[in-house]
Amino acid sequence: MSTIADNVLRVSARIRQAAAAAQRDEADVGLLAVSKTKPAAAVREAFGAGLKDFGENYLQEALGKQLELGDLPLTWHFIGPIQSNKTRAIAEHFDWVHSVDRLKIAQRLSEQRPAELPPLNICLQVNVSGEASKSGCTPAELPALAAAVAALPNLRLRGLMAIPEPTEDRAAQDAAFGAVQRLQAQLDLPLDTLSMGMSHDLEAAIAHGATWVRIGTALFGARDYGAR
Ligand SMILES: *Cc1c(COP(=O)(O)O)cnc(C)c1O
Repeated sequence: MSTIADNVLRVSARIRQAAAAAQRDEADVGLLAVSKTKPAAAVREAFGAGLKDFGENYLQEALGKQLELGDLPLTWHFIGPIQSNKTRAIAEHFDWVHSVDRLKIAQRLSEQRPAELPPLNICLQVNVSGEASKSGCTPAELPALAAAVAALPNLRLRGLMAIPEPTEDRAAQDAAFGAVQRLQAQLDLPLDTLSMGMSHDLEAAIAHGATWVRIGTALFGARDYGAR
């Protein structure tokens, strides 16, 4: 069985190779470790192997891990669907939110961001897979949503996030990530972030400008939802 440290080396090598193939600087591609369903001990081990950014989908689970890991200088990213009644805790306990797809949620996050913290970094989740996905705004909704979110005081709009329909077909991966990259370029805003690419498709995402790849399985192994 490979350890998390082995996996960090393996994923880092994939990122390096993909960046080189795209003639990009590998330092511009961040590795966001997706630790949902994994215990705090696994996060601690990944930190020991050099990772600092962690992504979580489930609020209660994330808050428990944050409490256990309070001695470590970690950056926490919320990447899951957001219900209105969860925005306050997210605004208080995270550094980034990747999964904002409607204005009401962004307004609440801005209102509820504590004054002593820096602005909350935001990515807008866009759905480029049509009916195959329930989350994310449509490409047509994106320009107005982005302009409105960019104007909110306690948020810093950084860019877009996408979870294309899973496929092993590289051409389909390229089409989806290319669409996200074009949507970002069409927004007349100073954005610096594209959060896209997971364990099975990080190479295609990096080829199309990803600046965060969100990696779970390739770092921590398969998830066991039954054991949560
Ligand atoms: C679970 C999850 C990931 C990680 O997926 P893997 O295929 O395990 O790498 C990335 N992004 C989001 C939004 C997720 O929910």
